[in-house]
Amino acid sequence: MTGAGRRGSVTLIGGGPGTEELLTLAGAAALRDADVVLFDRLAPHATLATLAPNAELIDVGKRPHHHPVSQSDIEDLLVAHALAGANVARLKGGDPYVFGRGGEEVAACRRAGVPVRVIPGVTSAISVPAAAGIPLTHRGVSKLFTVVSGHEPLTEVEYRSLAGLGGTIVVLMGVGTLPATSYGLQREGMSPRMPVAIVERGYSPRQRTTFADLGTVVEVAAQAAVSSPAVLVIGEVVRLAHEGDAEAIGVVRDGAAHAAAG
Ligand code: SAH
Repeated sequence: MTGAGRRGSVTLIGGGPGTEELLTLAGAAALRDADVVLFDRLAPHATLATLAPNAELIDVGKRPHHHPVSQSDIEDLLVAHALAGANVARLKGGDPYVFGRGGEEVAACRRAGVPVRVIPGVTSAISVPAAAGIPLTHRGVSKLFTVVSGHEPLTEVEYRSLAGLGGTIVVLMGVGTLPATSYGLQREGMSPRMPVAIVERGYSPRQRTTFADLGTVVEVAAQAAVSSPAVLVIGEVVRLAHEGDAEAIGVVRDGAAHAAAG
């Protein structure tokens, strides 16, 4: 908090998933200039003190036994620090506008007359499958992908539309609703043989990919004790998976933690 009379501002920064290596140059520059950083649990924050050397660091992320700061309190904090003259950085996991409530934070700043900008980030929806060597599109295999929130089960009409659409389905926040997703898509006609991959903790040293098919994935995921954060990929592109894309950006992988089924 600084700068008597100076006009503060807020910058939403997409931090990418799992590692600060996926932060953009613009994001790194904004962190360098920040007086205050509010960061999430899923945002890469291990080296934040180095990336934002002049900033007060505020953890607003949810974690077990740690009372989360509510969304409206986060918005109030952003606005209050900016009105006091600070350059406020709001570091979020992945991209701020993909299931990140970035739009709400931008709206709160605008309502308060605080200048706000958004630096996009590498979204886990596309990059975490890539960490497991899965391309979401592939000529002759998939010409579209749909990114879905698994926070709550979908409606029957939504399962039907997804099952009928073809292409690749990517589910974020989908571990808890995995049974609903698997049964819903099969009920609406998707083959139980459709391949599925679950990529946990992408780009972290504990990244793990579990392979199954739609008919077995509930059982396989339970056996492997799959947990959040994880990205689910459903579609023929899963057959193209290969090792190595996470290592390419310097992540050490736990090769032993690899489950395969089917
Ligand atoms: N804005 C974020 C998504 C926020 S929703 C983005 O663009 O990536 C949170 C969900 O993102 C998690 O439940 C999980 O599905 C996914 N996720 C984020 N980081 C991840 C990671 N490192 N590995 C696997 N999944 C991740």
